[in-house]
Amino acid sequence: MNKIIDGKMVRDLKKKELIEKIQVLNTKLTLVVISVGDDPASKVYVHQKEKMATEIGYNFLNLHYDKIEENDLIDNIKKLNDDKTITGIIVQLPLPKYLNKDKILNTIDELKDVDGLTNCNLLKLIKKQDCLIPCTPKGIITLLDYYNVDLSKNIVIVGRSELVGFPLFHLLLNKNATVTLCHSKTKNLEYYTKQADILIVAVGKKELISKDMIKKDSIIIDVGINRFDNKIYGDVSNDAISVASLITPVPGGVGPMTVISLMENIYKAYELQNKYQVEVL
Ligand code: NAP
Repeated sequence: MNKIIDGKMVRDLKKKELIEKIQVLNTKLTLVVISVGDDPASKVYVHQKEKMATEIGYNFLNLHYDKIEENDLIDNIKKLNDDKTITGIIVQLPLPKYLNKDKILNTIDELKDVDGLTNCNLLKLIKKQDCLIPCTPKGIITLLDYYNVDLSKNIVIVGRSELVGFPLFHLLLNKNATVTLCHSKTKNLEYYTKQADILIVAVGKKELISKDMIKKDSIIIDVGINRFDNKIYGDVSNDAISVASLITPVPGGVGPMTVISLMENIYKAYELQNKYQVEVL
């Protein structure tokens, strides 16, 4: 039996569905990615977004600054918020340390926040309201959905970041899963991971989870991306496949779903903006 959850295959399927929706629009949607500084990984991620956005049929704009004052950056985001030709705005993370990440992210209009990282969207997510959902958690839910995974199970998430673990905890809870959220201060991590029917690991520590920390026949979602010697490793050791019933590879599992979820969020932002316009008329 094939135990691999194929993120690339599901991405391609979702990409095709999205292109069909985009093609019938009488307007071209535009994504703006703001980047500051010279983080090498960010350059790769911005390029990935540009490639996928262009393939789907969106306009793509990268506003790059080697250095910019915080107030100027905030003013620029406000202008993009007011610009009706812009559908989605992303601030590429990490930002240089001299910039206040929270203040900058929360300047983005919630209806253009296609990364789903503003406080407004997070609160709406927690309250089960229609909103833009962070891309990696959204991609994980799409994957589990595609593979018909029953979520009314014991799910353990390792990692509580605002980007992945924390929003995913609420998404799964809202889908009636029984969810445990572990983190660096969790004592006896293995006790929790061994109870998981579905184990989701988003930590950023190569092979933190070994085969003997996993329940037999569980489903493993490995979010981790750890680069060593030009190779990419997940947070779960490779031999976990012998114990799991289904497992995401790294690379090729969650990563492709994050990018396609961003693309879906651009279309969703367009829908929400139209809905809002109708409501205020
Ligand atoms: P992050 O902000 O650094 O958060 C890491 C989380 O792991 C924190 O909650 C931390 O706990 C927890 N943690 C650290 N050491 C731990 C340990 N020994 N045991 C249990 N928990 C521990 O990272 P992130 O942004 O969520 O990313 C996590 C990983 O996923 C990274 O490798 C990142 O590259 C990858 N990622 C991949 C994708 C994708 O598309 N595939 C997308 C996003 C992120 P505390 O809160 O207590 O510090």
